Amino acid sequence: MTATGDLPWLTPLQAKLSALAEQQQLAHALLLTGMPGVGKTQLAKALTAFLLCKMPAHGHACGQCKSCLLLAANNHPDWLALAADNSSIGVDEIRRIIEFTQGTAQQHGNRVISLPRAERMTESAANALLKTLEEPPQGCYLVLQSSQPQRLKATLLSRCQRWDIAPLTKSALQQWLATQVSEPIPEFIYRYSGGAPLAALSLLTSAESAQIEQVLRQLTEVLQTPADLAAVVKVLESRTDSSHILGYFICELLLSTHSLSAERQLRLQQRYYRWCRDEQQILGQNKTLALTALLQEVKTLVVAR
Ligand SMILES: [Zn+2]
Repeated sequence: MTATGDLPWLTPLQAKLSALAEQQQLAHALLLTGMPGVGKTQLAKALTAFLLCKMPAHGHACGQCKSCLLLAANNHPDWLALAADNSSIGVDEIRRIIEFTQGTAQQHGNRVISLPRAERMTESAANALLKTLEEPPQGCYLVLQSSQPQRLKATLLSRCQRWDIAPLTKSALQQWLATQVSEPIPEFIYRYSGGAPLAALSLLTSAESAQIEQVLRQLTEVLQTPADLAAVVKVLESRTDSSHILGYFICELLLSTHSLSAERQLRLQQRYYRWCRDEQQILGQNKTLALTALLQEVKTLVVAR
């Protein structure tokens, strides 16, 4: 299982990680970072397969041995993967990880823990994990993943070796998408995905992009007319990707289509980042009020002369 064979931008990183593992120099606590849809999960899985494989060759897992088959069936006893859903990661999950690291490998090889969206860890969960990150038991690898590493504690960051997956340039993205789909790629896909290939592909092959464009049209309309904000606020509130949509709308669309002074551009961006920060940090925040206030201020900044 080469795992990243279809994802060529991951190949150099995978090769480096495998080479370090072969030389026994791979850090035991790793943090894979990069935008959503850039391939963190896929790189983590490829590295996991390599670390667990009984007969790896040329930097890749063989895909045939018992370990590879168990992993492919999501059933490897020496692999612990936390779910990548929206729930926060608490102390109980970290205890599970610690217990797992203290056991012995059932397949007589390495053990790997996958911790996706690591920014979901609560403060006490992160604290509970620190010691394990510092001195992971022999043959144990912790692979954390995050698209928002700025939300991780400094003490946690300093204990992990960080590997960043960069987004693709437009031409590289164009090239790769052409190998996946035959239809022409709308400009919107390049811009909205920010160069994250898997995000771009998922936009192309689902109804998502039409829905997102619809929300963007609603936002534009609200700015141009005295229209009520309530409807668009309600739509944004119901989506899990509202911060991405708003980020694109405010920091890309508005800044490129309106002739705003540098000062106003800066204020728009700062206002957006403040909303993001509040959304992540204020527990029990009234989302309706926060969104309405954000959009009202954006409107004032863009429309007022
Ligand atoms: Zn194998």
